[in-house]
Amino acid sequence: MLATHLESVDPATGEVIGRFESTSPADLPRILEHARRVQEEWAAQPLRARCALLRRLRDVLYARRDEITEVITRECGKPRFEALSADLMVSLDTASYFAWHTPRLLRPETVPHHNLAVKGKSGRIVYEPCGVLGIISPWNYPMAIPMGVVIPAVAAGNAVVLKPSELTPWCGALVRELFEQAGFPADLVQVVQGGGEVGAALIEAKPDKVVFTGSVATGQRVAEACARHLIPCVLELGGKDAMIVMADADLEVASSAAVWGSFTNCGQACVSVERIYVERTVAERFIELCVAKTAKLKLGSGIDPDTEVGPMIRSAQVDRVESHLRDAVAHGARVLTGGKRRPDLGPCYFEPTVVVDVDHSMRLMHEETFGPVLAIRAVSNGEEAVRLANDSPFGLSGSVWTRDRERGRKIAARLKVGAVMINDVMSYFGICEAPHGGRGASGWGRTHSRLGLMELVQVKYVDEDRLSRWPKSWWFGYDQELGVATDRFLEVLFAPGWRRRVSSVRGALGTVFRSHRI
Ligand code: NAD
Repeated sequence: MLATHLESVDPATGEVIGRFESTSPADLPRILEHARRVQEEWAAQPLRARCALLRRLRDVLYARRDEITEVITRECGKPRFEALSADLMVSLDTASYFAWHTPRLLRPETVPHHNLAVKGKSGRIVYEPCGVLGIISPWNYPMAIPMGVVIPAVAAGNAVVLKPSELTPWCGALVRELFEQAGFPADLVQVVQGGGEVGAALIEAKPDKVVFTGSVATGQRVAEACARHLIPCVLELGGKDAMIVMADADLEVASSAAVWGSFTNCGQACVSVERIYVERTVAERFIELCVAKTAKLKLGSGIDPDTEVGPMIRSAQVDRVESHLRDAVAHGARVLTGGKRRPDLGPCYFEPTVVVDVDHSMRLMHEETFGPVLAIRAVSNGEEAVRLANDSPFGLSGSVWTRDRERGRKIAARLKVGAVMINDVMSYFGICEAPHGGRGASGWGRTHSRLGLMELVQVKYVDEDRLSRWPKSWWFGYDQELGVATDRFLEVLFAPGWRRRVSSVRGALGTVFRSHRI
């Protein structure tokens, strides 16, 4: 049979810029089997040796940064600056962070026992690799998202089969190449190319865990497929992140954040600012600032160093943005700037758009738009802002803007999301120590940070008995006497008042000094 190919398409021009061999779904069982053999040898390597290779990966990423950012920009459309400051920076920092910190994060932990009955034991928690991980990723951060999981996965001793998005096969191929160049064992990180059918086949080949990042609809299919085989999974899904602007916020700064948070990566980020609730007393000024700043943005090809907003990934994505806007306008929203396709620039361009007078009956306010739209709604107070922010099936992240730190913390505590930023947007995604993940329709589990690493290991508890020649008081040989002694023992542990506890000590010893008939 002839190999089929995936095309890498430049969204700025619609031109085909590369062709990559697709993986046949039928090959996945063999690929997984091979991964299992490679993983066993890899897990036998000392943790420090695995981490040393991560430092080499960091050096390779750094040395090839120009070429990598160019591939990201050409395949994904984002401005070159964003390929460097988001995708490459996050990948470099993740390699650096896990190279240094994994030995500490995975150090076995001693578990002291509080209960007198088990004081003769010592416990330890150890962290073991899961085995082979299936990692399925989207196109919007085609380097940062896979690297954010693959790096800690291999540090923890796993092998990886990565299925990058079919829209960014070139970036996917680069991931594999970078690990090999850094000196990781051949095929420790395998990349399978193709669409949903290859992702589905990867799950059917039964990896030990799946880490999926993508849309809610696909996430549901992934969760169902994993459930059929009882494969655990992490789901990093969509968002509808709210930004709350209180009247005392620095409006100059908050409006710049709103514009950047809505239009970076052309609004195609899971943690984009998708909804803004601003206190009515300052709404007019805030809107004015947002409109003026949006109108100044330079729309164009990501290759041009002055471009601030690039094309969307595909024309179908632009269709979705248009349909959300049409629906909003039909229900009374007003577009203050932007709102149009720009076929004169290329097939996937859409102007950065500010829209006001929005409400929750509009798709724009309850479905993920994933495009360059900044939607602002004026609210009476923080209470209303919190209520509306929480009125969403999603719960990925959000932000609150105020000069009053205490108030910011109180609002943050009430938002039903996985992360809140006070006086910043989105940047927590690039902080290695910050866990990333959502609630509700935004998914479950975490990536990044110590908690993300914990998703990639098996936790094992190891118990050692220090009194190995002593039969246990709870073993067979039950009789009336033992029942009474055990009751005294419970008194020693739990009776209210120390007198009663002390007076029961003698009787409780009958649980220890007894004859075991069996
Ligand atoms: P998508 O769901 O269309 O595809 C994601 C991946 O799943 C792709 O690799 C795709 O080929 C694969 N896939 C499709 N069908 C599959 C199946 N049946 N079984 C297994 N895999 C399958 O998402 P997308 O368009 O690539 O990405 C955009 C979405 O991702 C947005 O909703 C965005 O919010 C979300 N996202 C979430 C995060 C996060 O961390 N929470 C980060 C980035 C993007």
